[in-house]
Amino acid sequence: MQNSKVSDVSQVSPKRLFPAKRRTFAIISHPDAGKTTLTEKLLLYGGAIQMAGQVKARGDRRRTRSDWLEIERSRGISVSSSVMTFEHNGVIFNLLDTPGHADFSEDTYRTLSAVDAAVMVIDAAKGIESQTRKLFEVCRLRDIPIITFINKVDREGIDPLEMLDEIAAGLALDLSVLTWPIGLGTDFRGCCDIYGSRLLLPKETRIDPFGRVKKFNNLDDLLLNSEIEERIVEPAVEGLLLCLEALPKFHHQAFLEGHLSPVIFGSALKEFGVAELLDCLTRWAPDPLPRKAKERSVDPHEKRVTGFVFKVQANMDPNHRDRVAFVRLCSGRFVRGMKLLNVRDRRSLTVSAPIFFFAQQRETLEEAFAGDIVGIPNHGTLRVGDTLTEGEILTFEGIPDFAPEVLRRIGLGDATRTKQLNRGLNDMAEEGVIQIFRPIFGTWPILGAVGTLQLDVLVSRLNQEYGVPIRLDPAPYETARWIVSTNPQRLREFCESYRSSIAEDKNGGLVFLAKNAWTLNRATDEWPDIEFLRVRERS
Ligand code: GDP
Repeated sequence: MQNSKVSDVSQVSPKRLFPAKRRTFAIISHPDAGKTTLTEKLLLYGGAIQMAGQVKARGDRRRTRSDWLEIERSRGISVSSSVMTFEHNGVIFNLLDTPGHADFSEDTYRTLSAVDAAVMVIDAAKGIESQTRKLFEVCRLRDIPIITFINKVDREGIDPLEMLDEIAAGLALDLSVLTWPIGLGTDFRGCCDIYGSRLLLPKETRIDPFGRVKKFNNLDDLLLNSEIEERIVEPAVEGLLLCLEALPKFHHQAFLEGHLSPVIFGSALKEFGVAELLDCLTRWAPDPLPRKAKERSVDPHEKRVTGFVFKVQANMDPNHRDRVAFVRLCSGRFVRGMKLLNVRDRRSLTVSAPIFFFAQQRETLEEAFAGDIVGIPNHGTLRVGDTLTEGEILTFEGIPDFAPEVLRRIGLGDATRTKQLNRGLNDMAEEGVIQIFRPIFGTWPILGAVGTLQLDVLVSRLNQEYGVPIRLDPAPYETARWIVSTNPQRLREFCESYRSSIAEDKNGGLVFLAKNAWTLNRATDEWPDIEFLRVRERS
């Protein structure tokens, strides 16, 4: 923490950032647990912003660069993932923001395919909530190492021991505590940094940049500390001793394998545990990891550049009507002006104006390395799931499409706007806002989304950006599944029997649109040669 510096963004050019270690991570949480506050404080400690409150503040100050969508403004929620890079003690942190709203989980899942570690923020008063659990499951599928940050200990909360029990049992995860709260709520007096033998105390004055630190030799010292009332420190130390007895010690390998999570009790708002979280990421989180492609595993130290698109974002800057593809670099040294092959369509593209995201600023990127996120402005040539290389035919795995849970039919008021409508729909399907299914028989596409908020975004953006007001009507289907089979003849027969319910997705993949769960179950029973997929990896 002492080495942290609060500097002006302009003083830190992207070039200065290398060579250095990299930590590419995301924060996962349920809405309101404190992700935004923690992000702000991480950026503050990392010296990327001068004053907390710049990521998402109240009222007018919410209008930051990440709030580019009208819908986002009107609802005050963050609907799109973005990336923030900052430097701390010579380490480069790429923090990939994930939208907290449940409807945007698809976007979040894709973002998690681009990280090497995650921070799970839990509200000390609420414990594990539904969205945390879902996101945790995604991390577990990929064995992503997770650091647990139990936030808001300055508020009345669940007893720390009970909380640890709940998390360990609820998520079947080993836990090991790094910091421990001394009192909760109005009794909160500070935290104990267990392995650093430090007592973390509040700032002396409100304008102090950081809290105070007192070293201790053993836990008994804590009891003798005259600053904290006995009635508070005694039960806190007792709880800590019980916890140390009951829980395993931190084990690095178990953390890297995703079995054990170090736990930091803290308060993002009051800046407790934030520096410890950065230290934990620096010391224990992995360097950029090898990535699996269909053909082979790619080592981050390989010389040639490889990467994949995990997100496409429109309207990042209202002054430039561009779309930016977010590429996670998996290997090599990327430089501006480089020619890369888009393996999907075998086309080359020259990346002349790559973007680098420094806190809330966009800057032109000169060079980047494995683990970094490069923004590539483009006009629709790059799609989510695309692999970029210097020529090798490779396909990175792990970017999923999810079967939609909401299906709608489009109603267009003005038939002369069909062209604009199709352009808008294609753009947004490529960004991953919605999925389009074009029935083999029939003219109007069926739109699919994981949640209804995605559809609100679609309607609002089609109107604003493409000048096409649309209406969404209920579709005569409730559910969709991709259909594949090792027996092409049977697949043809299936499509023939369900002609009016077969559609193609934007990649030409076959989709069965089922009227309801009963139809789907019957089809599954009657056609054992056909697989009905709920999740499909891009290829
Ligand atoms: P997000 O929805 O997860 O991004 O949550 P926010 O960061 O927007 O926080 C939700 C609310 O909790 C806001 O009112 C924050 O000020 C508050 N909050 C966040 N962290 C803390 C904390 O450590 N202590 C307290 N008391 N409130 C907090």
